[in-house]
Amino acid sequence: MPAGPSADLIAGLRLVDGHCHSILAAPLDANGFEMHATEATVPAPPGVSYLDGAAGLAIRRWCAPVLEVPPGRPIAEYLSRRQELGVEEVNRRLLQAAGLSHLLVDTGLAGPHLLPPAQLGALAGAEVGEVVRLEAVAEKLAAEDVSAAGFASAYRDSVARAAEGAMAVKSILAYRGGFDFELGPPDLAEVRTAAGHWLAIDRPVRMDDPVLLRFLLWCGVEQGLPIQIHTGLGDRELMLCRADPSLLQPFLAATEPVGVPVVLLHCYPYHRQAGWLAQVYSHVHVDFGLTVTQVGARADAVLEEFFELAPFGKLMFSTDGYALPELYLAGAAQFRHSLAALLDGWVADGVVAADEARRLALAVGSENARRVYRL
Ligand SMILES: [Zn+2]
Repeated sequence: MPAGPSADLIAGLRLVDGHCHSILAAPLDANGFEMHATEATVPAPPGVSYLDGAAGLAIRRWCAPVLEVPPGRPIAEYLSRRQELGVEEVNRRLLQAAGLSHLLVDTGLAGPHLLPPAQLGALAGAEVGEVVRLEAVAEKLAAEDVSAAGFASAYRDSVARAAEGAMAVKSILAYRGGFDFELGPPDLAEVRTAAGHWLAIDRPVRMDDPVLLRFLLWCGVEQGLPIQIHTGLGDRELMLCRADPSLLQPFLAATEPVGVPVVLLHCYPYHRQAGWLAQVYSHVHVDFGLTVTQVGARADAVLEEFFELAPFGKLMFSTDGYALPELYLAGAAQFRHSLAALLDGWVADGVVAADEARRLALAVGSENARRVYRL
């Protein structure tokens, strides 16, 4: 497809990455690379590679040229060039090429081999903001031996401290039970009883108590920051059918009067449901992260579906990059490509004029996130 007028504009637009994690500072072998490229968590069967799919093609297409490997070369050639350049150089080149102005980093997924957010930002040449993962704050508290009676107030204090200076809070409820149960705020007696059961479990504890998860969610709402909610695809630890964002309707109805923006992350394959929610609930926004990277070239079609019902002022870019710098660049480059294709198609068809297309590209790539996260 020839590059149209939107491609030039979008190529020069520095994107706000509204949701990401950090990258690995240590080198990976081919196996490790493959296991970080998709949402699969068990090794592929003989004769199959997870890199032989849409995400792998996107990595080869968008990242190979930055490492001076011609696009379309086999993945083995890409991986050996990666090895040759070394992890630091690869991280720097790919992150810089992603063209990001801001990175909002979920710091709840910490590990000994992940770069601290400030270093990630320095490599990318981007400003860094923190996103506080609600469940991680509770798990940290459990490790500090809080009592059942003291849990509610200790959690409130901890989350308020963590949220100071942060850009958003985030819930991974989808991973801890899903959305198809009562999501109203529990009373303090319920929280105390639930905390007693939960804290009696052997350490380290995983926050998966349904009452406490609701409590955390509402403490998150109280912070007055945008609340990001993981919905749709992820690894198989979640039950996909329980991560359908339309199951959040009662919660969305209850939080609308509070006035905090809710940002539905990922959404796929429920991105059409998410678009409808964004249309009918004034505080609901939709983020493309992870989806665009994982569907690769099909993002042309999927992005169009994101644009079906949601008001354009509620659509936001992110990469959901994690571990591999490739996931930031492939996410950003594929988004630029697919958005340009969509907008140029609309200009050619007379749907929008060229200056309207420019406004939409700016909104979705940067301005909407700047407004919602108050960057
Ligand atoms: Zn994420």
